[in-house]
Amino acid sequence: MAILPIQRFGNPVLREKSKRVTTVSKSIQKLIDDMIETMQNAYGAGLAAPQVGRLLRIIIIEIPDEKLFALINPEIVKKSGERVVTEGCLSFPGYRGEIKRAESVTCKALDRNGKAIRIKANDLLAQSLEHEIDHLNGVLYVDHLESEDKLEKVETPEYPME
Ligand SMILES: [Zn+2]
Repeated sequence: MAILPIQRFGNPVLREKSKRVTTVSKSIQKLIDDMIETMQNAYGAGLAAPQVGRLLRIIIIEIPDEKLFALINPEIVKKSGERVVTEGCLSFPGYRGEIKRAESVTCKALDRNGKAIRIKANDLLAQSLEHEIDHLNGVLYVDHLESEDKLEKVETPEYPME
């Protein structure tokens, strides 16, 4: 396993649309393992492949009281409700912002073995799914800010960074 450099805001790779994974090969498995190690090393709660410079539709999510999710080609098929959340991003360190996310989402994806799965999520897991899947479409949480006043500088993040 290896720790990969996390790409920061301003790097154009974060604005690209990622490609679907067609074969869950050994190199995809290795990328997943490296992404998990990179996320854990950064004390992150989630990571999307473009954040490590790979334009592939792969995300990792690890939040308290949930198992670790490694999802390939994740897609939100249903979302409902709306709530205000505070969000941060490993590619945008030192800031957090208040944005609106869905209350619950249903997501379909492949697991790391290529098996089709469906996840019904709410709260932080729903938020993380939306945040990471946004990354695959070149969207960052700051794009959802109603105004720049909703962005705030922080010294020590005590909320999950994705
Ligand atoms: Zn992020």
